[in-house]
Amino acid sequence: MAKNHYDIALLPGDGIGPEVTDAAVAVLTDALKRHGITPHYTTYEAGAAYYQKSNEAISAASMKAVGEADAILLGAMGLPDVRYPDGTEIAPQIDLREHYGLFASLRPCRLFPGVPTRVRADTIDMVVIRELTEGLFAGRHDPTEPNDESASDRLTITRATSEKLFQLAFAQARLRRRLHGTPGHVTLLDKSNVLRSNAFLRKVFDEVAARHPDIGTARLYIDAGSMMLVTNPERFDVIVTENVFGDITSEIAAGVVGGLGVAPSGDVSETHGMFQPSHGTAPDIAGQGVANPIAAILSAAMLLDWMADRHADERCASAAAAIRAATCQVLTHGPKTRDIGGTAGTADVTRAIQNALTSSALAA
Ligand code: ATP
Repeated sequence: MAKNHYDIALLPGDGIGPEVTDAAVAVLTDALKRHGITPHYTTYEAGAAYYQKSNEAISAASMKAVGEADAILLGAMGLPDVRYPDGTEIAPQIDLREHYGLFASLRPCRLFPGVPTRVRADTIDMVVIRELTEGLFAGRHDPTEPNDESASDRLTITRATSEKLFQLAFAQARLRRRLHGTPGHVTLLDKSNVLRSNAFLRKVFDEVAARHPDIGTARLYIDAGSMMLVTNPERFDVIVTENVFGDITSEIAAGVVGGLGVAPSGDVSETHGMFQPSHGTAPDIAGQGVANPIAAILSAAMLLDWMADRHADERCASAAAAIRAATCQVLTHGPKTRDIGGTAGTADVTRAIQNALTSSALAA
């Protein structure tokens, strides 16, 4: 049901997280207000800085509260110098995925006009769908005995999660074909020639694919597929893959369309959605006002698309389209941040997108 106001939980996090979250909130608020919707934001502390003062990555109360919001907008979390005793980084975003069963990460990668790429291609418009809760992350909480000679991780694929993942991939291919005119095609990346778990993954993919005869399919080994992402990215529409393969390929895909500064993402389940830029906390540029806010702003547009779908609210879909159009306009004509060849700061780009949102062409 469409609502008069939406509750959005904000988790700005660490490093450049708060800077890009502020930018995304400014644009999101403008876009929603232009469509007659009042957003209501609540900010929660979580991440490395919060861990330093509280000894926990996110409190139980915050973990519960963010799930009661209509959607979650996250900046970035974790700092290289702040670690748990076992040496791993503070990553409440992974805890949130597990707690809310956010089983898939959608990472759209589109080459916008005005964004430099090192790859020779005219049209790149793909989405990498990464499984988030199992695969090579499955044993993250397995008990281990202290051992200074060897260490292993567990790769588990389940039918239940894989079926949900592939259903989502085929639904995305169909939705993208309707909205963007993309071909309606899904590519599975796996290592089924070596890993038993991946042979099973491919078997489940084939079963689900058989139920979607209107969508084209391809199956590639992860190594060959990774090379093709660089040599022939135009061949991909929807890519779907295991957790760690997806972690890596989504960054390759982001790289070919201009880098992490323009790559949004959304982690979803059937009931919850958490949206965040694909980049991390970028401690090397934090606090300087130079972070590219576009990945976070496009993540806010994904959040709106997701709410549009859940609440059958066309106003949210229209606000999302307006954000994307305004962003495209600013990427084409500038100002741009230095990671994509410009000299502008975070605030300049944010203001330009807000101005483009109010321009008559986009207001129509
Ligand atoms: P993580 O493991 O959390 O993904 P990381 O250190 O691997 O973190 P990032 O924090 O994303 O990766 O940073 C990688 C590089 O990309 C850094 O040089 C950083 O400055 C740059 N970068 C990341 N995000 C942005 C952004 N929004 N604007 C400009 N540069 C960025």
